[in-house]
Amino acid sequence: MKKGISRRDFLNGTQVALGASLLTPWSELFGNDIGVFHSDTNYYPPGLSGMRGSHDGSWETMHARVAGGSWDAGEPDEQYDLVVVGGGISGLSAAWFYRQRQPQAKILIVENHDDFGGHAKRNEFIVNGQTRIGYGGTEAIDTPSSFGPPAMDLLQKIGIRLDAFYEAYDASIYSQLNLSRGILFDQQTFGQQKLAVGYALLPWNEFVLRTPLSEQARKDLIRLQTSTEDYLPGLSLEEKQALMQRISYETFLRDYAKVDPQIIEMYRKWGTSFWCVGIDEIPASQVQEYEGMPGTEHSLPRHGSRGDDPYIFHFPDGNATIARLLVRSLIPAALPGKTQEDSVLARLDYSQLDKAGQAIRIRLNSTAVQVQHTADESAVDITYVNEGNAFKARAKNVVMACYNLSIPYLCPEMPQRQKEGLAYGVKVPLSYVKVAVPNWRAMADLGLDFVNYTNDFYKQVELDFPVSIGGYECAKTPNDPMILHMCHVPFLPDVKGPEQWRQGRRMLLQTPFSTFEYHVRDQLDQALAGGGFDADRDIVGITVNRWPHGYAYESNLIWEPKYAAEADKPWVIGRQPFGRIHIANSDADSSAMTQAAIMQAWRAVGEIE
Ligand SMILES: Cc1cc2nc3c(=O)[nH]c(=O)nc-3n(C[C@H](O)[C@H](O)[C@H](O)COP(=O)(O)OP(=O)(O)OC[C@H]3O[C@@H](n4cnc5c(N)ncnc54)[C@H](O)[C@@H]3O)c2cc1C
Repeated sequence: MKKGISRRDFLNGTQVALGASLLTPWSELFGNDIGVFHSDTNYYPPGLSGMRGSHDGSWETMHARVAGGSWDAGEPDEQYDLVVVGGGISGLSAAWFYRQRQPQAKILIVENHDDFGGHAKRNEFIVNGQTRIGYGGTEAIDTPSSFGPPAMDLLQKIGIRLDAFYEAYDASIYSQLNLSRGILFDQQTFGQQKLAVGYALLPWNEFVLRTPLSEQARKDLIRLQTSTEDYLPGLSLEEKQALMQRISYETFLRDYAKVDPQIIEMYRKWGTSFWCVGIDEIPASQVQEYEGMPGTEHSLPRHGSRGDDPYIFHFPDGNATIARLLVRSLIPAALPGKTQEDSVLARLDYSQLDKAGQAIRIRLNSTAVQVQHTADESAVDITYVNEGNAFKARAKNVVMACYNLSIPYLCPEMPQRQKEGLAYGVKVPLSYVKVAVPNWRAMADLGLDFVNYTNDFYKQVELDFPVSIGGYECAKTPNDPMILHMCHVPFLPDVKGPEQWRQGRRMLLQTPFSTFEYHVRDQLDQALAGGGFDADRDIVGITVNRWPHGYAYESNLIWEPKYAAEADKPWVIGRQPFGRIHIANSDADSSAMTQAAIMQAWRAVGEIE
């Protein structure tokens, strides 16, 4: 299928020049002379609100490709040393690593969204005349002690200084107000709707009195939270680990800790923003990795991979700062300055990203639809669609830093086994919804910094990270404007395994903004009306960051088979180089982490001969 005017039609006037290619070197003919993608200085996607994330206009071309569409872009218009498909942290890192190797390299990054960064997106709001900055996805540098040396080196060279957060992150803002987590129990499951504030703050025998739980459930919650009982007596550590990896947290609670069914319902959706499944599919061995899910710690000593790093390494726009600092390093004119601090409030100049004549170009709103070796295999042709028009670039090498499950459609010549490996990792759908409010007095007055909803559209609402950095001041008093963070994860209790994410992805794409907005209003009123909140009066703006292709598939859930060797893992089979085409993205490590995105870029670039 070909949409709109083709590149051939569009470039009618260049036919003579193309004919001359027989005599002229590629690089001179196709160097960097295309200016049609250049955007103007008013172009500023972080300032947009409404439906963002995978916004309309970003996904339709690829879906048409999956449905069998094809585009004829004719002969290549440009030549690069490297084309990177996907402008997320992995794609930007791939360009960065490649340029380290070849400082003069010509690199093109094509990205289907109207902004770079992938999941690492910046959201801005103006509230009471002040710019408030939020994170549309990737929220923090998580467990930096687990970062591989090349990833840490990249962070340092682009100017990230983690030590700054020990001052920038001020937990006392919330602790001085004695804020804590609350649970909004739903009527359908618990017989009455009730907000219970003080989870993990009050003594448990006091907290349970605030809940609508039955007498038995109250006793069991106190026991689960306070007892040091080993619910797996007589098993060795290895036997415990094997068992806890096999059974779900729900099974553990029901059959080993033997708690009342109400406790199971209370925790059913607790971890859905992290694992994106209910507790019936989260291995019992995993729950200590996440806040607030009790009962296993005296049966199995903590052994998680998340280390003891504090969870404080958060820029106001989350890891969008990493993406912005990578762009600064690749295209300095786009974001003048030298430090992470001076980047925080700086407005990025998008008109600099794709300028004719510069060595590194980032081409937004451009969806790759075909990536194929030339007949003599000396190069790769990348066909992409921008504004409905098909274009072709030729590159010596390509790094695919896009969703790995889409690569079989883009590179149909790949071997079947590799395609199956790439397709294995179903992306996990979720959405981060940001709600700008002129103050957060209602939450402060109710004593809340976080609300868990036991069974509703949004699983949680929480206050922003208390981080002030680079001249940006977080909301220090309840009278200051705040961006509330809400999370919606499609939840299909009757569908199990990766199929729930396939269905959830479709559901997310079909859910209109009005539904997201309705539930923001409804759920904030439900939880906060008692503190004087009024959705009609107190909501200034809403940005829905919808990620149908969200987290990378993580291989740590209950259904995952054991693999005899690393080489047998589907994503390892999938990420092997295919001629001049190399595979990056966090998907290639089956790990929804920034460090995986960077390390996979490093590996993919290292495989280029
Ligand atoms: C809501 C959310 C919160 C997260 N929070 C954290 C966190 O706090 N800490 C953490 O470490 N990790 C977090 N992650 C994981 C996050 O995905 C990774 O940290 C990292 O940002 C992934 O980068 P990536 O470049 O591998 O993939 P992506 O960010 O997905 O980037 C891939 C890019 O390729 C583009 N693309 C796809 N197909 C095409 C095509 N055909 N043509 C052109 N471009 C294409 C995509 O649109 C996308 O922009 C979070 C993820 C989500 C969704």
